Amino acid sequence: MRLVLFGPPGVGKGTQAHLLVERYRLHHISTGDLLRAAIKADTPLGREAKQYISAGRLVPGRLVRTLAEAVMAEAGYDQFILDGYPRTVEQAEWLTAFLAEHDAPLDAVLSLRVPADRIVQRLSRRRIHKVTGESYHLDFNPPPPDVDPAHVVQRPDDRPEAIRKRLQVYEEETKPLETYFRAQGLFVELDGVGPIETVFQRIEAVLAQRTTAS
Ligand code: AMP
Repeated sequence: MRLVLFGPPGVGKGTQAHLLVERYRLHHISTGDLLRAAIKADTPLGREAKQYISAGRLVPGRLVRTLAEAVMAEAGYDQFILDGYPRTVEQAEWLTAFLAEHDAPLDAVLSLRVPADRIVQRLSRRRIHKVTGESYHLDFNPPPPDVDPAHVVQRPDDRPEAIRKRLQVYEEETKPLETYFRAQGLFVELDGVGPIETVFQRIEAVLAQRTTAS
């Protein structure tokens, strides 16, 4: 199974990706996570990407392309879920060509739909465990009492100015991919509002239908 999780920042792509990984034993390929790991490791790529990320802008496509293609190759070009890649039409064209070369077409692009005001609410109250990467929400999913509060931090790009920038970048550069993937018959839109498990059940229903249909 080869999937893309699509949608603006803050719709729950990372959360749903983790559940999909557990359920279907997929490799989770999050270009955002890969970039943050490169920043933490202070690699040349990480140093180049850093200022784009904290400003809420897209990093140059060649950097994410290298990261994403290496991990898809490691996964044997199968059993993966892409989260945060592709984010531009150019990246989608690279992906389509890359997968065609390896005879490994996508099965579906799952798009989570959440109203904009909820997205801002989710992102601005999101906190991350800086060691485990676990994601929390101060109101709906607060860190458990045994977690050291010093480890719970806000992502620099979850500050209000960066959130606004990321949403604007999404509208301008990423949303046009909807048309691209619709034309390939891959685009499936799902309601991303509701408890995490409910959204996951919607995803499972779509996958069950598409697997039976193919
Ligand atoms: P995410 O964790 O997916 O929200 O990504 C965090 C940030 O990493 C984004 O706001 C971008 O700055 C950068 N990034 C992640 N994936 C990509 C991509 N496919 N293309 C360009 N920049 C990306």
